[in-house]
Amino acid sequence: MWRVLRFLLRYNGETMKIGLTGGIGSGKSTVARLLREQGANIIDADQVARDVVAPGSPVLAELAEAFGQDIIESDGSLRRQELAKRAFRDEASTAKLNAITHPAIAERIKTMLEAANSADEAALVVLDHPLLLETNSDALVDRVIVVDVPADERIRRLVAYRGLEASDAKARIERQMPDEQRRARADYLVDNSGDEQALEAEVAKLWEWLHAVQ
Ligand code: ADP
Repeated sequence: MWRVLRFLLRYNGETMKIGLTGGIGSGKSTVARLLREQGANIIDADQVARDVVAPGSPVLAELAEAFGQDIIESDGSLRRQELAKRAFRDEASTAKLNAITHPAIAERIKTMLEAANSADEAALVVLDHPLLLETNSDALVDRVIVVDVPADERIRRLVAYRGLEASDAKARIERQMPDEQRRARADYLVDNSGDEQALEAEVAKLWEWLHAVQ
């Protein structure tokens, strides 16, 4: 059943675009990988965030203007740790960082979504974005999919598989949008509280749902 579902999804005459989000450790990247294996075109917002600060980019120049020229390495690349230290020092600095980077990221994502649509090869276009809702990037997609796992289990996975300290994992989760709020803005919830095999079945259900709503 899983394989036969692989065909083009359309929405309002265009390739369907979904936004995929969830708290840290919820399994977004894993869901994105499963969708890619089924022919979806994935736009990875984390990758876009890295691309917009590439050496020589206008965003990098703006960051250096705001946070100091020494956040740039002699080879022109961004010293991430140093920028993080300065930008996450207080709320005003974080807001300054976001004001510089978020519009550039959103702009590039928009262009990529348009290009994906005209390429028309993909069964589905998936915007994998940890801050989809926080940055209101849900306006760019047709449907919002939230990967949902209780926070305790996410902490367990982040410690077991990503090597985070439990206290660090907990603190990161607490800095994010509360799960309730994220769930309230979802068109569809993917339950990833089971094992990876259960997740495959959940993603197959998601495909069915997407075909039903298109
Ligand atoms: P996110 O991208 O949302 O931060 P990941 O997809 O990287 O989350 O998943 C976090 C970790 O949990 C990864 O190591 C991943 O392999 C693992 N993982 C994902 N889904 C499951 C699952 N259902 N059971 C066990 N581990 C899982």
